[in-house]
Amino acid sequence: MHAELIAIGDELTSGQRLDTNSRWMAAELGVLGIPVTFHTTVNDTIEAGLEAFRLAAGRAAIVVVTGGLGPTADDLTRDVLAAAAGVPLDLSEAALVAVESRFVRRGMPMPESNRRQALFPRGSRIIPNPDGTAPGIDVDIPRVGGQCRIFALPGVPSEMKTMWRATVEPALVAMLPERATIVQRRIKCFGAGESAIESMLPDLVRRGRDPLVGITAHEATITLRIAARGRDEADCLAKIAPTEATIRQCLGTIAYGVEDDEIEDAAVAAVAARGGTLASSEIGTAGRVAALLAEAGMRRLAAAEVYRGGDVLPAGSLDVRAAAAAIRRERVAACGLAVGPVRPAAEGRQAVEIAVADDAGVDVVEHVFGGGPDLARSRAAKTAINLVRLRMLGREGPV
Ligand code: AMP
Ligand code: MG
Repeated sequence: MHAELIAIGDELTSGQRLDTNSRWMAAELGVLGIPVTFHTTVNDTIEAGLEAFRLAAGRAAIVVVTGGLGPTADDLTRDVLAAAAGVPLDLSEAALVAVESRFVRRGMPMPESNRRQALFPRGSRIIPNPDGTAPGIDVDIPRVGGQCRIFALPGVPSEMKTMWRATVEPALVAMLPERATIVQRRIKCFGAGESAIESMLPDLVRRGRDPLVGITAHEATITLRIAARGRDEADCLAKIAPTEATIRQCLGTIAYGVEDDEIEDAAVAAVAARGGTLASSEIGTAGRVAALLAEAGMRRLAAAEVYRGGDVLPAGSLDVRAAAAAIRRERVAACGLAVGPVRPAAEGRQAVEIAVADDAGVDVVEHVFGGGPDLARSRAAKTAINLVRLRMLGREGPV
């Protein structure tokens, strides 16, 4: 049993807004063990909507659609659904009362246009909306070899999620032939590129493998996603464990964390684990190093005690060796980090000098990056923060 998702709205097709609903629902369907084969995004026209519904309903047993259920002239999902199902729209007295009562509670007269929200394709079921005026629609459309069940929900993410939990999820669970669970685990990596990391792993990133391993990159942070399918959560976790162990063995200190961990969280945790504190000095990176370290402190209480703040200098040159030692003294921190300006290097690349100082001495390295200066600044900041982590991991005893 496969599912498809359709997101409806001019704001999505025009690029003004990102379709976060489909991302959320796809993850929910994954947890239920229902694979999603297509995401479709269409504008607010009958033609595009009808085309999308015809294709999706012809391919999948389940289609979930968001958007276009409002009262205005551009909200066409109910009309499109009725046309796709080949049935007329009927007024639901019960839904009309529910829509009207929301206006009564607010002491406002109901605009005539809101009557549209009580129209439902004949034979469909109403999905109650406790948080808004637009109820959802649950309708079956005949398809070759069976039926396609369509759930239509409003686009407002909070309303969509409430209705999903209350109505769509239980309906989907009831449709499942056998319960299968999908569990995902993300291993976060830093310090090598996407293809370098793939080549360090023994053929793990292969289609059809169980568990499946996927690889994605974002601003030099590489995420390995392990997805296992099994009877229940314990079964999935048992499948994930050996794959995770292999990854950790192959990547060593490149694998710095899991799930939502950022490199700054790992670095600050490594300093904290050695009872240390950290201060930074940077030039020409627009305060990225300080911002990342401060954010790590806001995410975790223990991390807030570790970072002693830093100097952010607008431009110029910096002797990073001296600066790392100086900021360490000034802020009375166990560890000092200094990041020099990002400057052009050979072949259109960018270079940066970084120093990490603690009571055992100073590490100074020069890093060279590909990509434009903007990306290089972000990478320089993360690379510098990672050097703190690596120096801590290489140390014995307290810092
Ligand atoms: P609608 O139900 O089409 O009236 O959508 C109401 C609002 O929900 C829109 O103005 C968007 O801000 C938001 N919205 C609609 N579709 C999505 C989507 N796929 N992802 C995130 N937000 C959405
Ligand atoms: Mg809309």
